[in-house]
Amino acid sequence: MEKKNIDWSNLGFAYMKTDKRYVANYTAEAGKWDDGAIVDDDKIVMSEDAGVLHYSQSAFEGLKAYTTKDGHIVTFRPDLNGERLQQSCEGLEIPKLSVEQFVDSIHKVVEANAAWVPPFGTGATLYVRPFVFGISPVIGVKPADDYQYRVFTTPVGPYFKGGAKPIYVRISDFDRAAPHGTGNIKAGLNYAMSLHAIVDAHNNGFAENIYLDPATRTKIEETGGANILFIDEDDTLVIPKSNSILPSITRRSLAFVAEHYLGMKVTEREVYLDEVKKGNFKEVGLCGTAAVISPVGKINDHGTDINIASGMDEMGPWMTKLRSTLLGIQEGEIEAPEGWIHRIM
Ligand SMILES: *Cc1c(COP(=O)(O)O)cnc(C)c1O
Repeated sequence: MEKKNIDWSNLGFAYMKTDKRYVANYTAEAGKWDDGAIVDDDKIVMSEDAGVLHYSQSAFEGLKAYTTKDGHIVTFRPDLNGERLQQSCEGLEIPKLSVEQFVDSIHKVVEANAAWVPPFGTGATLYVRPFVFGISPVIGVKPADDYQYRVFTTPVGPYFKGGAKPIYVRISDFDRAAPHGTGNIKAGLNYAMSLHAIVDAHNNGFAENIYLDPATRTKIEETGGANILFIDEDDTLVIPKSNSILPSITRRSLAFVAEHYLGMKVTEREVYLDEVKKGNFKEVGLCGTAAVISPVGKINDHGTDINIASGMDEMGPWMTKLRSTLLGIQEGEIEAPEGWIHRIM
């Protein structure tokens, strides 16, 4: 298989159309998902009244496929993405796709786009985007009758070019998710409401928004698209606990790595903004599939800067260890826990 002629190391994070995608359909009439297939056409034809266009009935996932040192193409824990998509579907009244079909769709679409999977050592990966949406007409407020599930892929460049630089973020006055709302599922609508907040943050010189719990505005939740990790004075990995945080697969994997590979203590508990202000945390990081960990060097709280001890020059030692261990596991240089790495070819 000949790779595409792409300057892999200089790719950004942007959509590039690849050759193949996976499509499955659900109809109320059939009462089930069909078997799905790999197709060429990247265009979707649907009614102007499709449910997704009016009432945002859609959920998505994001994972990556990449080449290991010994030349295999693999994905990382796709079964967890499949389970999480089921939870999102439950929350949005979308018929659930089985985890088996989900994992099979990932395998098929990555295999069909093998020429687009970046070679080992470039830092680039093939980003895989599964998504599901209401496709049939809906005018009264209710779930659609028919749905489409798709998976496309797009090659993306290394997240950090020339080292992971700490970022400057702010405490947001906007809310991301209501206490008993949809914050814990990967619904497109959560992102719709974060768009104004992120543009406003960028316009004011901040890389991201840290959202607080909307009910009391005293506890740390997460950013628009990444969970937050803290290292306290006792070198414990502290993970904020809340019902409206999206359960990041990277965060769950890092918690396992911290405990079982690095011998760290890990606690999941409510984290108060006041603790951050007092300087109780030596390191802060954002985690997600794209970057694994992005270090946070400084947090702006309504005009006052909170300087994190690890500073703005480089990633702190614990975040560095966590990130390099998980990356080593993903890339096949460190032995992975059973079932984490799915070999595609
Ligand atoms: C997808 C997402 C994350 C990161 O999850 P991963 O599974 O680690 O990629 C974090 N927060 C939000 C709001 C997300 O949508």
